[in-house]
Amino acid sequence: MTDNSNEQITIDGPAASGKSTLARCVALKVGAYCVNTGDMYRSLTWLSQKNRLDPVDDRAAIVRLLDQHDMQLKANPEDCSISVMLDGQPVRDVIRASDVTAGVSHIAVIPEVREWMVKKQQESKHLGLIVMEGRDIGTVVFPEAKYKFFVTASPRERALRRLRQDGETPDNANLESVTNDIIKRDKIDSERKAGRLKPAPDAYIMDTTSMTIDEAVNTLVSNYLEILSMDS
Ligand code: C5P
Repeated sequence: MTDNSNEQITIDGPAASGKSTLARCVALKVGAYCVNTGDMYRSLTWLSQKNRLDPVDDRAAIVRLLDQHDMQLKANPEDCSISVMLDGQPVRDVIRASDVTAGVSHIAVIPEVREWMVKKQQESKHLGLIVMEGRDIGTVVFPEAKYKFFVTASPRERALRRLRQDGETPDNANLESVTNDIIKRDKIDSERKAGRLKPAPDAYIMDTTSMTIDEAVNTLVSNYLEILSMDS
């Protein structure tokens, strides 16, 4: 069997496409750490909002936050997860607030922010086999990865999935408003200059609109095992 302990499984895709759940389940199945890179951009967005910085007028101050604060990826071996720690504290609960979700794409377009995040993400190679999910993982962070996936679903299905997740949408949200927010975020993520949302040329494209989570996990894992067996 090939030694794949230093490999990466990359999962990219648009907002609310189910990447995080899929990545977590796949990581547990194959015995890898799971890195959610959206949480890193969300953490900086939360910090910027706390400091009342504007994503357009205060770009330099936002980039400086990365030197002034300590952002680390903490490995949790008990469930194969990785937590983003800001100044030693977990931020998981605050970074999923709807204000952060609405603002994050505006922070993620800043080229210096992307450069910093990509470097930090590449450092997680030392963890061994990892599943990393985001927008530019197969194209920019690990373009040499052997196992690349691009996960998508229709905007309506993605909005329905988001509405089912507690606390991820504003109290007055409905199917139309969530669909529009998702389309808006996809547009910014797909049109920015650096690290734009797009499949790597060699990514396996998965449309999960009518798949259950188990079906999506099985499809991805089968594909991964097939590539792995071709290498051995
Ligand atoms: O994955 P999630 O929806 O939590 O990501 C939040 C936002 O972070 C995305 O809409 C995108 O603007 C940004 N992001 C990014 N590159 C990544 C991961 C997330 O630009 N690799």
